[in-house]
Amino acid sequence: MAAEIRVFSCLSDNFGYLIHDPVSKATASIDAPEAGPIIKALQREGWQLTDILVTHHHADHVGGIAELKTKYDCRVVAPHDKTAAIPQVDERVKEGDTVMVGTLTARVLETPGHTLDHISYVFDDAHALFAADTLFSIGCGRVFEGSYPMMWESLLKLRALPDDMRLYCGHEYTASNVRFALTVEPGNPDLKARAAEVTRLRAENKPTVPTLIGDEKKANVFLRADVPAVAAAVGLAGKSPAEVFGELRERKNNA
Ligand code: ZN
Ligand code: FE
Repeated sequence: MAAEIRVFSCLSDNFGYLIHDPVSKATASIDAPEAGPIIKALQREGWQLTDILVTHHHADHVGGIAELKTKYDCRVVAPHDKTAAIPQVDERVKEGDTVMVGTLTARVLETPGHTLDHISYVFDDAHALFAADTLFSIGCGRVFEGSYPMMWESLLKLRALPDDMRLYCGHEYTASNVRFALTVEPGNPDLKARAAEVTRLRAENKPTVPTLIGDEKKANVFLRADVPAVAAAVGLAGKSPAEVFGELRERKNNA
């Protein structure tokens, strides 16, 4: 039986995610921005929380762990990098490790840049990528702890996933990301189509996730730093993709 995924909002602009295995009844929360909305979503479905899969140490991704752990005695899986404080960790994972949620399997990809400990979880059978603050729809996370070349490598790792992989990202930033991307690629037809879709979804108060990796490749300017037209658009024709990526990220920071 296929995995079931639920999307809801947490805090001001974080996404909450539950992935449920109908075979074993196991349910994982991807990160724990805050306990309240996660508990509500679990109760709505009649699911018991068995696991929390943490992507990185930022407060808006770990703030709900203590309360959820007390209530459900669930397992907390977190990045291998122990320099970042994450409460009540039971298991540490690194690149290439697999995590079972009941009978569902997630692969761990190390995707540093936003933070040094950032990891992403790929459920291949469910075609689901949980990329938190590395890759957003039409955007990417700010580079707080790593370098631009490091973040670009992480984005390439996610871009290499199959086109039909669904992206579930950490924040509802898509409308702002679209506005910025259009300043760089105003003529990109796939970006224009995504812009129209995002306007419609937001008007209906619906989340802009999931999206497909195949669509992000065509419309997300941060995945397109190695496209010559994008380099030229930011005045860096012929420069390395990592440099072009860095320029895009800085422009977005200052937008
Ligand atoms: Zn973060
Ligand atoms: Fe975040």
